[in-house]
Amino acid sequence: MIYNYHYDIAALMLIVLLISIYFLRRNYPTTANKAFLAILFFTFTATVSDLLSALTIPKADEIPLLINYLINIIYLISYNSTAIVFYIYVTIITKQYHKRYTRISAYIAFCVNSFILLPTPWTHWGIYFDENFQYQHGVLFPLLYVSSFLMLLSTIYFFFRYRYNLSRYQVVSVLFFTIAMISAVVFQMFFPAQLVGCLVSTLFTVLVYISLQNPEYYINSRNRCYNEHALNETLQHNIRHEKSFSLLAFSLDGFQYVNQLLGTDAGNHLIDSFVPFLHSKYGINNVYQLSDGRFAIMLPDKNEKPVTRELLQFFQTPHTVQNVNVLLTPHICVVHYPDFAHTPEDIINTIDYTLKYSLASNTEKHITASKDELKKSTRETQILHAMKNAIHNQGFQVYYQPIFNAKTKKFSSAEALVRLYDPELGFIPPDEFIPMSERNGMIIDIGEQVFRQVCQFIQSHDLKELGLDYIEVNLSFVQCIQNNLSQRLTEIMKKYDVLPQQINFEITETAGSTKANALQKNMNGLIRVGSTFAMDDYGTGFSTANYLVNLPLEFVKIDKSILWSAMADEQAFTILKHTVEMLHALNKKIIVEGVETEEMVDMLTDMNCEYLQGYLYSKPINSEEFVIFLQNYIA
Ligand code: C2E
Ligand code: CA
Ligand code: CA
Repeated sequence: MIYNYHYDIAALMLIVLLISIYFLRRNYPTTANKAFLAILFFTFTATVSDLLSALTIPKADEIPLLINYLINIIYLISYNSTAIVFYIYVTIITKQYHKRYTRISAYIAFCVNSFILLPTPWTHWGIYFDENFQYQHGVLFPLLYVSSFLMLLSTIYFFFRYRYNLSRYQVVSVLFFTIAMISAVVFQMFFPAQLVGCLVSTLFTVLVYISLQNPEYYINSRNRCYNEHALNETLQHNIRHEKSFSLLAFSLDGFQYVNQLLGTDAGNHLIDSFVPFLHSKYGINNVYQLSDGRFAIMLPDKNEKPVTRELLQFFQTPHTVQNVNVLLTPHICVVHYPDFAHTPEDIINTIDYTLKYSLASNTEKHITASKDELKKSTRETQILHAMKNAIHNQGFQVYYQPIFNAKTKKFSSAEALVRLYDPELGFIPPDEFIPMSERNGMIIDIGEQVFRQVCQFIQSHDLKELGLDYIEVNLSFVQCIQNNLSQRLTEIMKKYDVLPQQINFEITETAGSTKANALQKNMNGLIRVGSTFAMDDYGTGFSTANYLVNLPLEFVKIDKSILWSAMADEQAFTILKHTVEMLHALNKKIIVEGVETEEMVDMLTDMNCEYLQGYLYSKPINSEEFVIFLQNYIA
């Protein structure tokens, strides 16, 4: 038989090109990557040996038979191994490789191939050369086909069963690869002289490389440092192999100012300038750049002390960017595996949490994270989840706390306070979830839900009949700086036929300090239609008189902590007294919250405070209880 080996020449050129590209780029050493390297190796070996065999088989009578056997055995083993490693590769990317039977079946297939082919020069089970030096298939040769087909069928099985772990692009290329390999084997059975097998597998190795093997996915293209995807892989790998380690992560205090003042280009430039130092000190494979100018360094078990020392020392001297000297302080968090965290998510969440909260408010600059941090970060994740659910299912409830008018001795308003109940976590206090929702912007949806419910309440009850003038609604500073807040709230009021006069909005000082323009615009818009505003939590922040003068406030709500200290301390009492006088001089009406005793009522009425709110009158209660409370009071 005369073989047409031109396909093999094309395949060889292509595979050499692919191997060169592969090694020119830096590849993250993942298990999938090792399997891909094996695909490359077997495809290359199969192509070279196929090409050689096309030349040596016709000359079997001239060259030593053993050499001919050797070339053909190498070809068949590597060609069939391509199917096996491709199967392994698919089990890895569909995250099923850890299952023992996936590895055992690949191992069995490899053993069957070797068992048939290795002794074939003597047994003639796989292939042999007959007395006329003609290349022939042995009795067990069909078994090679069977094993390859089984491998490809298993690939298809894993692929369909677990394809949700893959992107659409990946799905298409795996499907193509498998179909093409099967077609090539079938084609080869009918046209043994046309050596297309290697070209088909090479073409699809290229496709796999483009669609599945994306080395840039693991690397920061600017400074060639590994990123969080790479860290995630490494963590998974180490955890799977029960390898203990210390992960040292650090953020740079002061870095955000470089970004804000000199621009992100300068910030990036500065971060990039640390990478060579970190690479040379701790090894290119152990340094990961995370988001926001944070880094993580993978270290052998509990070996972080000298590294901590070196980092603190390295950042002791200022660094120069755009001719400006900046001093950055590293905040370091170390997680020991397997001390308490057992999944990559746990480790990364603990680090996030510790760097963001524990260290930001701490004078200590390095912490070894403990179960406590993990617990807090897990709680944060759970609450985020509960909030998402509640936003989705309209799960927030509004409670009302009546406010007593000290002049008329009647309840003339109420504060709307949001409540979150989660079936798993139970009741979650607003002091816990509101700050979180402000950090991630969920407060905008939550605030709107609360406002709708308040409007619904007003629509379905006659406030006048209940003795109420208006309802107080809390606005977070995040809401206040939304450009279209006043329009949105006005639209909602219109929808429920609520008069803007029936709403008094409570804002906090933080709202006044950030983006004062947007806040002013929103306030003016709502005041124009008839609503009023109160400054909440007065006395807890910086309380600059500025806000009182500049913002159109009708009310000021003195914080409960100010009232409580005035009850316990002479000097605090004097402060409260003068605060009340000062606010009255500025024409503000005063609400005092946290009123728990008759003694407080006496003191506050003596001071002429207009409105009182607190547990003495009622805790916040749901809308039905609130209506009954008011009706009983009137009756
Ligand atoms: P805040 O605006 O200062 O609300 C007053 C808090 O003091 C409420 O806590 C209320 O239950 C509590 N309180 C009132 N009187 C007394 C008292 O006599 N004794 C004691 N010990 N506490 C009293 P709550 O409902 O847990 O709310 C906590 C904070 O969560 C609120 O503080 C407010 O900042 C925030 N919040 C609640 N609902 C909303 C909302 O709908 N939107 C926004 N943006 N924030 C809200
Ligand atoms: Ca309030
Ligand atoms: Ca308060």
